Amino acid sequence: MYQKPSIIKIDYTNTQKSGAFGNPLKTQKVRSEIDGVLVEELIKQYGSPLFVFSQNSIEEKYQEFKQAFTSRYPEVEFWWSYKTNYLDAICQIYHDLGSKAEVVSAFEYDKARRLGMPGKDIIFNGPYKPKEALKKAVQEGAKIHIDHWYEINDLESIADELGIEIPVAIRCNMNTGIYPQWSRFGFNIDNGEAYDAIERIYEGKKLYITGLHAHIGTFMLSAHAYAEETKKLIQLKNRISADFGYEVEYIDIGGGFASKNRLKGIYQPPEVVVPSPDEYAEAVTGAIFEYNEGNLPKLFLETGRALIDEAGYLLTSVFASKRLLDGKKSYIVDAGVNLLYTAFWYNFDIALDKRYEGLNEPSQINGPLCMNIDTIAENIMLPPLPRGSILSIWPVGAYNVTQSMQFIQYRPRVVLIDKEGSTHLIREADDLEYVREKEIPLK
Ligand SMILES: *Cc1c(COP(=O)(O)O)cnc(C)c1O
Repeated sequence: MYQKPSIIKIDYTNTQKSGAFGNPLKTQKVRSEIDGVLVEELIKQYGSPLFVFSQNSIEEKYQEFKQAFTSRYPEVEFWWSYKTNYLDAICQIYHDLGSKAEVVSAFEYDKARRLGMPGKDIIFNGPYKPKEALKKAVQEGAKIHIDHWYEINDLESIADELGIEIPVAIRCNMNTGIYPQWSRFGFNIDNGEAYDAIERIYEGKKLYITGLHAHIGTFMLSAHAYAEETKKLIQLKNRISADFGYEVEYIDIGGGFASKNRLKGIYQPPEVVVPSPDEYAEAVTGAIFEYNEGNLPKLFLETGRALIDEAGYLLTSVFASKRLLDGKKSYIVDAGVNLLYTAFWYNFDIALDKRYEGLNEPSQINGPLCMNIDTIAENIMLPPLPRGSILSIWPVGAYNVTQSMQFIQYRPRVVLIDKEGSTHLIREADDLEYVREKEIPLK
């Protein structure tokens, strides 16, 4: 096919990670296999686009975090954050590893129960817990983390209905030195609201406090913020133990640890800016040991993103290319932002399935949606790629599957590569039947 030749100014600052060491016109990032399985074979067998998860990476990362915390602290529990990725197969791996379930809606609660998690192994978080769902969770012994004053009232009336006293935790928020400060979930510690809520619970005599919880943000690049958070939770624990005699069994520091993804606008590589599991663990456990009075509480973690992000890939195939007005090359691929919600924040690591002939040039990658926002990479150096070339986009394991939407295109299949290198289909692609199923046509 004829393409009008054009002269393009090459921006040498626009190089990939490895580009700085080689000729940016020739450096190609190639990832031909995932856990020993050829990318090309995966696409041949399951079609394109395709989400791919590595069980090896999931387990290694989990062990890394577990080791970092348990080597420093006697009692640590991991609670898998369902919304980060709630495919049954993925949750099952975490549960088999010993992680319990953290859910933020009635739907997620039911999904965890259906997977066999008993109520006592589920933390029920979130600002919206309809009374019926809340009551069921109480009856099944779930750990309820109260978000607001209305929920205190709801729980007290449930306590009356059931004729029991209900163990609860409250969610707290606070200034940890990071911006923006999340203040819309839970009760503020700094202005005394959290203390007031606990006093109110104490005086009501229908609920009692067994835990304190906070979740201070997501993709938190500051380990120090966790030291601040933990300090404030522990100081509150000490105070309510002295004032009300509460034996707080656990403090739950939430999730939010960063993954090795590259945030837009941050120019240092993730290896430099993302704290290690040891750094996070040192910050948290150091603060407990420094400030705790009385019995050591259990330490709960609700880590999501940092555990799963790097275990997930999205494979996509080149469908066509064109030359944009400014001379940049644009590739149309078969996966769009409807599958990659996180494309708005991250500059992904994008690799080719093999080496291609030709020199790199500045390119952009667009998805299949007929929407101007459907851009997966704005500025990436790529050699000329023919139709059918496969790109693997990484890391995409956190949030993208749960937030992907059926919009213009169907959502694709998801496969898992197990520890023996065998692949398993863990979610079928959408089809017309699936999309139509809940519709009700006018007669
Ligand atoms: C989303 C969420 C998490 C998990 O956060 P990550 O950033 O994925 O680690 C944990 N706890 C609560 C309450 C959440 O809402």
